[in-house]
Amino acid sequence: MTKQRELILSILKQSDRHLTADEIFFLAKLKMPSIAMATIYNNLNAMNEAGMINRLHIDGVADCFDKITEPHDHLLCDGCGKITDIHLPTLSQQLETTLGTEIEDYELTVHYICPECRRKKRR
Ligand SMILES: [Zn+2]
Ligand SMILES: [Zn+2]
Repeated sequence: MTKQRELILSILKQSDRHLTADEIFFLAKLKMPSIAMATIYNNLNAMNEAGMINRLHIDGVADCFDKITEPHDHLLCDGCGKITDIHLPTLSQQLETTLGTEIEDYELTVHYICPECRRKKRR
């Protein structure tokens, strides 16, 4: 693994949220000032293809990268844009039961207003 890739991976692993390529670039530059945006993109794409990380695409939001590669779904706050993981282990089975056939995959983004935004609204 190249030094650059190691750095990008460690940034993702240390973060407790989903990071955009821009955010990863910013954090990587703090440790490796010479790193280029193209290097970030190339490594993110390669790691995504290798299944080491997961690219997350949600309409209207910049693509994010996720260190969690097991299947899971996402909650998106329409107030602040924060993305949170949700685990719905039985949903695939429910879909299959309802459809009466096996499914390949599904993508689910649940829109909501996060507790923080809810609190701010109330003030
Ligand atoms: Zn929010
Ligand atoms: Zn996630």
